[in-house]
Amino acid sequence: MLGAIEAGGTKFVCAVGDETGHIAERIQFPTTVPEETMPRVIEFFKRFTLDAIGIGSFGPIDVDRESPTYGSITSTPKPGWRDYPLVQALKESFAVPIGFNTDVNGAALGEVSLGAAKGLDSCLYITVGTGIGAGAIVQGKLLQGFSHPEMGHILVRRHPKDEYQGKCPYHHDCLEGLAAGPAIEARWGKKGIQLVNHPEVWDLEGYYLAQALMHYILILSPKKIILGGGVMHQPQVFSSIYNYLPQLIQGYVTLPALSTYIVSPGLGDDAGIVGALLLADLAMKEESPHM
Ligand code: ADP
Ligand code: ZN
Repeated sequence: MLGAIEAGGTKFVCAVGDETGHIAERIQFPTTVPEETMPRVIEFFKRFTLDAIGIGSFGPIDVDRESPTYGSITSTPKPGWRDYPLVQALKESFAVPIGFNTDVNGAALGEVSLGAAKGLDSCLYITVGTGIGAGAIVQGKLLQGFSHPEMGHILVRRHPKDEYQGKCPYHHDCLEGLAAGPAIEARWGKKGIQLVNHPEVWDLEGYYLAQALMHYILILSPKKIILGGGVMHQPQVFSSIYNYLPQLIQGYVTLPALSTYIVSPGLGDDAGIVGALLLADLAMKEESPHM
């Protein structure tokens, strides 16, 4: 039995299940402070005999196994979680292999194993929600360098009529600063869900996301692109991306048919938690390769 944690900035989802993506039981609760949230995680998992635990976490996180702070959340502004040693805290209660990666890398693993990119050896999973982040599978493996990718913070060309200054505390008008959910709300004065009948909102959203996708396609050449997160519940954003992307690429790269190339998660809202189950499975196989 595998344990899975989808550690989000607003909520934690914990589940137990197996490597086929089957979830036997799950629980979720708000992310408050570690002193309150972590005991709930531990209490849930104590009821089971686990073989491994996988964590897909909000970031940035330290995924460098050589680093003394491996397994911790790093520079988050979220109170109490900065430099919090998440993996270490779990190790104190559970003597099993623990897989640790970003929430979006976990989701990419879920989608390539069991979702919209099943059968492929590469994919990109992007969330457009409270923030923008992406995870990638390249040549069958999770993409990682000195750290995990931070694809939400790339620079995009501003729309000539867009005067919104941008919401990223680090870069102001990076992609996340211009196109994540809170930026939509700040620019237009209403939440995304209340802007359904304003096509200009979703056209502009696609204008920015299409630029980002062009960069990702040119650099990584993913075989499938999966777009999840709250903002992508607006089908109009997909239409806008399908409109702008070919105008940007200009036929330089021959793209697959867009409606089957750039898609919603095959695992729906479970991409993250199923991905965390697979991170557990991966950790178990890495620690005992003959199982
Ligand atoms: P998180 O990124 O915190 O995990 P979500 O992926 O649900 O959470 O993203 C939350 C953001 O998405 C909020 O800014 C919210 O306004 C926006 N959002 C949620 N649902 C919708 C929707 N149906 N249409 C447009 N925007 C939405
Ligand atoms: Zn930024």
